[in-house]
Amino acid sequence: MNFEKKWRNSPLARIYVEEEAKGYPLTEEILARFPGSAVVPIRAYKELFSRKRQNFRLQKKAPQLILAVKKEGFLSPGAKVCERFGHKHFYYGSSVLNCLFDCAYCYLQGVYDSANLVVFVNVEDAFREVSAFLSHDPLYLCISYDTDLLALNGLTGLAERWYDYAQEEPDLTVELRTKSANLGFLRKKNENKAFVLAWTLSPADVIGEYEKGTPPLEKRIAAMREAIDLGYTVRLCLDPLLRIPDFESQYEKLIDRFFSEINGREILDVSVGAFRISAEYLKRLRKNRPACALTLYPFQLRDGVYSYPPEKSAAMLCFVREKLIRYVRESQIYMSDF
Ligand code: SF4
Repeated sequence: MNFEKKWRNSPLARIYVEEEAKGYPLTEEILARFPGSAVVPIRAYKELFSRKRQNFRLQKKAPQLILAVKKEGFLSPGAKVCERFGHKHFYYGSSVLNCLFDCAYCYLQGVYDSANLVVFVNVEDAFREVSAFLSHDPLYLCISYDTDLLALNGLTGLAERWYDYAQEEPDLTVELRTKSANLGFLRKKNENKAFVLAWTLSPADVIGEYEKGTPPLEKRIAAMREAIDLGYTVRLCLDPLLRIPDFESQYEKLIDRFFSEINGREILDVSVGAFRISAEYLKRLRKNRPACALTLYPFQLRDGVYSYPPEKSAAMLCFVREKLIRYVRESQIYMSDF
């Protein structure tokens, strides 16, 4: 009985398969990877995923998998609080909703009612939509915003699918943002300079306390080092900057540590931004994390987005910029203007 209960509550004990998702090659591939999971047919994923009164924190302990078909279209215009790195056409797309990691400040817990992972299996439809866009304009596409696609590659294979697709599209620049140290498939590919591997780093103490399940700082830096040596384009993201009590010494230590391993000329650029979140998401995030000191900060609201008071954000950004220009050119630094 106890065993039975434990099994039912273990991660991926159940894979829910939407009626329409049956028969897609990716559905079959994922099901074959988890022969021990119970397969539960469902009518429409939103009936399960968007149900009210779910317990996000409880589900996060043992997330289940939902295979679904994305019907709304794949491309969405980049949000105003996101950096576009000089690209005219900046879009993002989600092949997966939710993440294996569990960062205390993650906006996803303010977005979704459920912590279960949704994988959209009709990836070919997404490729078709992107190709249609590329027939009239070049595109800068972020594929890992509502998840960590690299961390999930062993489960879905989707980071690799996107990589292979991007190889065939010269007008497409892809950003894959990650905290994973799992280079896996990248070790056996020819490097594509227009596929930007963007690692988010935080001070080691922040990772230990607030980024549960993510690889430690040293492993992330080692993965970045290896990716550069393999010929990939690598971006450093110090975003979100988090206002912790010893902010200056922690971030200085982080920057010095990073550039003791990697020369500034070896990376494409650095993206820097203070923590920011939409008003609606913050409300729900706080409900899910009532005791998190980071997100209980008395943020200020500007244009529907909460962040640190402008003078505090400016001081944080200015401090980090000063440290960075010892290692990279000014033109390599992208600061969020929020
Ligand atoms: S890695 Fe990113 S998407 Fe995943 S939990 Fe952390 S902040 Fe959220």
